Amino acid sequence: MGPASDRNPRRAAVVGAGLAGLAAAERLAAAGLEVVVLEARERVGGRVWSAQLAGGVVERGGEFVTSGYSVTERTAARLGIALVGMGIDYPDRELHPGPGPGPGALRRGAETAAAAAAVATPGTAAAAALDGAVADGAVREVLAMRLQSALAHPLDALDARFLAHLPDLVTTAEARRVDGGNQRLAEALAARLPGPVRTGSAVREIRREGDAIRVIGEGFELGVEACVVAIPLALLPELRFDPPLPDRQAEAIAAIPTSRAAKLAVPLRSRHAPRALMSARHRFWAWTTVCDGTGGRIANAWAGAAPVLGRLAVEAGPARWLARLGALWPGLDPVAEDALLTDWQRDRWARGAYSVLPGIADPRGDAAIAPPAPNLVFAGEHTAEPEWTGTIEGALRSGARAARDLLGEEPPRARAGPS
Ligand SMILES: Cc1cc2nc3c(=O)[nH]c(=O)nc-3n(C[C@H](O)[C@H](O)[C@H](O)COP(=O)(O)OP(=O)(O)OC[C@H]3O[C@@H](n4cnc5c(N)ncnc54)[C@H](O)[C@@H]3O)c2cc1C
Repeated sequence: MGPASDRNPRRAAVVGAGLAGLAAAERLAAAGLEVVVLEARERVGGRVWSAQLAGGVVERGGEFVTSGYSVTERTAARLGIALVGMGIDYPDRELHPGPGPGPGALRRGAETAAAAAAVATPGTAAAAALDGAVADGAVREVLAMRLQSALAHPLDALDARFLAHLPDLVTTAEARRVDGGNQRLAEALAARLPGPVRTGSAVREIRREGDAIRVIGEGFELGVEACVVAIPLALLPELRFDPPLPDRQAEAIAAIPTSRAAKLAVPLRSRHAPRALMSARHRFWAWTTVCDGTGGRIANAWAGAAPVLGRLAVEAGPARWLARLGALWPGLDPVAEDALLTDWQRDRWARGAYSVLPGIADPRGDAAIAPPAPNLVFAGEHTAEPEWTGTIEGALRSGARAARDLLGEEPPRARAGPS
C-alpha cells in the first residue's frame, strides 16, 4: 500500500490496547510517529488477562503458546521476557471416561477429514463432512469434541471448511506461558511507548475528514493523520464510522460469529503434577501446570461453545462446573470458595472469546477487514492470516501488519517472519 506513506503521517491513534494494538503502536512509534493509544479498560492486554490467585498466576484469557508462535517468541525475547514450559503438551488430554482413540488414529482421522473438507461442496455441514470422511465412530466423536471446544462454537453451526483446523488440534506441541503471566507481554509493549496508554478511554466514533481522522469518545476528541482500529470483531458494529463502512463490509463483519468461552481457576489444597483431562460427557477440559507460581496448586478449566457453558450453568456461577470438575478429577481437593470464573461473553470490552473463522482463506473474512482508507486500518486476531486467527500470535502478527500497511512498508518475504 503506498498512499499512506506519501502522506507521511506524523500522528497516529491506535484504538485498543490488546496485543494487536500494542504491537501496532510499538512499530509506529519506532518509525517516528507520535502515537496515542486509546483503551476502554483500566488495564492493557485485552483478552490476555493474568490474575493473582492463591499466591500464583492464572490466565483468565489467552494462555497457551504452542508451536509456530515465532512472533510471540521474538517479541518476548526482545522484551526480555521468558516463555516457560507448562509441563503439559497442547492439545493432548486424557479423555474421561477413556481410553479413547490413540494419537495415531486421531491424527489420521484429522488429516482425512481436513482433506475431505478441502473439496467439500460449499455449504456442507462440518458434522456431515466428518461423518463421510472418517469411518471410525470413536475417532469422529473425539475430533468433533476437540473442534467444538477449540473453536468454542457449536459444531452444528460450523461448515466443512472448519475441519481444516483439525490436524493442528491433534498435533502435540509443548505448551508454554509467559513467566509471571502472559499479560506481561502487553505491559512491556506499553512500557516501550513514549507516552502512557490512555486507559478508561472508550472510542465511540471514527470520523474521516479528508485526509484527517477524528477519533471521538466520551469527553475527548483527537485529530490524527492515521488510525489503527484494534478492538474485537464483536464490538466493531458498535463503533460509528463516518462515512459509514460500505454495506458489504458491515454485513461481512456482522456475519462472522464470535465464539463463547469461559475459564475456571481454583486453588487446590495440595500440589498436583501437571496433567490435562477432558470430560467426554460434559465437554470441558481441565489442567494443572508447573508454571503457575505455586508448582501445581491451582486447577484450570476451559469450556467452549454456548451449549457446553449452558450445561455447566456458568451464568449462575462456578458451582456446577466445580462439581463436575470434582467428578472428572477425583482427589483434586479444591478450595471452592476461592474459585475464579471468567465468562468472556459478559465482558463489556470483548463480548465473546474470539472470531470463528475457518482457518483457510475466507471471502467473508477478507471483506470484513479491508481497510476503509489507506490511513485507516484494522488489526486484531480476527484480521490475522487464516491459520492464526483467534490466537495471541495472530494478534501480534496483525498489529505488525497494520503498522506496515500504514507506513507503506512491504510485507516480509518469508511467511513465518513478520517481525
Ligand atoms: C478465554 C480465552 C482463551 C484463549 N486462549 C488462547 C490460548 O490459549 N492461546 C492463544 O494463542 N490465544 C488464546 N486466546 C485468544 C487470544 O487471547 C486473543 O486472540 C488475543 O488476545 C486478541 O488480541 P487482540 O489485540 O486482537 O484483542 P483484545 O485483546 O481483545 O484487545 C482489544 C482491546 O480493545 C479494547 N476496546 C474494545 N472496544 C474499545 C473501544 N470502543 N475503545 C477503546 N478500546 C476498546 C478492549 O478493551 C481490548 O483491550 C484466548 C482467548 C480467550 C478469550
